[in-house]
Amino acid sequence: MAEFNTMDDLQFAHKNVLVRVDLNVPVKGKKVSDATRLERIVPTLRDITKVEGKAILLSHFGRPEGKVVPDLSLEMVVPALAEVFGHKVEFVKTDWNDISAAKEQIEKAEPGSVLVMENTRFHPGETTNDAELGARMAELGDIYVNDAFSAAHRAHASTEALAHLLPNAAGRAMQRELNALAKGLGNPKRPLIALIGGAKVSTKIDLLEHLINKVDALVIGGGMANTFLHAVGISVGRSLCEHDLAETAHRIMEKAADARCTILLPIDAVVAWKFEANAPNRLYGIDAIDPDGMILDVGPTTIERIKGAIDDASTLIWNGPLGAFELNPFDKGTVEIARYVAARTKSELLISVAGGGDTVAALAHAGVKDKFTYVSTAGGAFLEWMEGKKLPGVTALQPL
Ligand code: AMP
Repeated sequence: MAEFNTMDDLQFAHKNVLVRVDLNVPVKGKKVSDATRLERIVPTLRDITKVEGKAILLSHFGRPEGKVVPDLSLEMVVPALAEVFGHKVEFVKTDWNDISAAKEQIEKAEPGSVLVMENTRFHPGETTNDAELGARMAELGDIYVNDAFSAAHRAHASTEALAHLLPNAAGRAMQRELNALAKGLGNPKRPLIALIGGAKVSTKIDLLEHLINKVDALVIGGGMANTFLHAVGISVGRSLCEHDLAETAHRIMEKAADARCTILLPIDAVVAWKFEANAPNRLYGIDAIDPDGMILDVGPTTIERIKGAIDDASTLIWNGPLGAFELNPFDKGTVEIARYVAARTKSELLISVAGGGDTVAALAHAGVKDKFTYVSTAGGAFLEWMEGKKLPGVTALQPL
C-alpha cells in the first residue's frame, strides 16, 4: 500500500480544502434513501471546518457521461448532507468549462463552510482523467483530501490528476479503510483464511489467483464452488456451474497446492429442485447430488468444517455468500458462518474483514454487519484491492 499523508500531517486553518467524497448515494423520488456514505465523511468535514477551513466537496453522481444531466445534479444531495452534518451546506452551481463564478462563490463563503460542487462527471474530462480539468479543479483549493475509497479504483480527474497538483492527504474514512485493509491482507496476523463465495468463478478469477498466493486457507462456497466440484469429477446436477471453466479451476487448484494454500470445497450440500424461497429441499453428500437438483447452500458438515478452519485462523477475509442467501432457507450456511465469525471477532480471537455488494447485504441479513473488525461498502474498489491491484486514487496520494 502506498505511503500517504493523513489529515494530521496538514494544516487546514483558513484553507480552501478540496475534498473528493462519494456522494453517489441511493435516491428515491429525489430524496436520499440511504445516508451511510454521507455519515462516513462527517469526521473529515468536522476536522476541516472546526479550524475554519472551507470544505469544498467534489463527487460524481450516477453516469451522466460527460454531459449536464439536470436529474443527476448533486444539488439533490445537499439537504441530506446538511442534516447529517448538522450544519448549513451550500451548493455551488458549477460550470466545469468555466469555473470563474464558482471560484467567486467559494471566496465569498464564510470560513468553516461546507460547499458541494456540481457532479464532476458533467464534464467528459472527469472519467478520462483529463489533466486540464484536474488543473482547473486545483485552482479552487489549497489542499486536496481524498475521502472516497469507493472511487479510488478509478483514475479520474478528481481522484488522480488533481491529487498530484496540491498538498494531499487521505481523509478520515479513507485512512480508516486503508488501515483496516492493511490488517486484512497487507500485513495480516497469520494464519490467514479467505472465504470466497458468490455466483460465478468467471467474475472472480483474478481474485482467486491473487489470494492463493497470499492466504493459508481458501474456502470456496456458493455457486462458484460447483465449478470446482465439476472440475474434479463431481456431478452437480442442474446447479449453477460454469462447465467451460474446468481448466481454470484446475489451474487454480494446482497453483494453490504449489503455494501451500489449502482449498476447502463443500463436502455436503442443500439441494432444491426450484430456485425459489421455501422450495422443498434435501441434504446430500457431495458425491451423490440428485441429477435433477440444484445446490443452493452448503450442508451442515461443511459448515462445521469451515468453522474448524476459522478456529485455526487469526485473520479472515470474506467476499461472496456461501449460498443463495436471498432465499430462505438457503441463507443458513452464510448466516451461521457470519455469526460464527462475529462471535470469534468479539472474543478477540479473529480479525475479520469483509466487503463487496452482496457480502455486505448478506452480513446485514445475518445481523452482524457491525460485528466484524471491518466491513467495506466500497464494492469495486474493495474487490480490486482484494485482487492485489493498485488503486490509482490511493497511489496518487503521495506526499508532495
Ligand atoms: P456475487 O455477486 O458473485 O458475490 O454472487 C452473489 C450471488 O450468488 C447471490 O445473489 C447468491 O444468491 C448467488 N449464489 C450463491 N450461491 C449460489 C448457488 N449455490 N446457486 C445459485 N446462486 C448462488
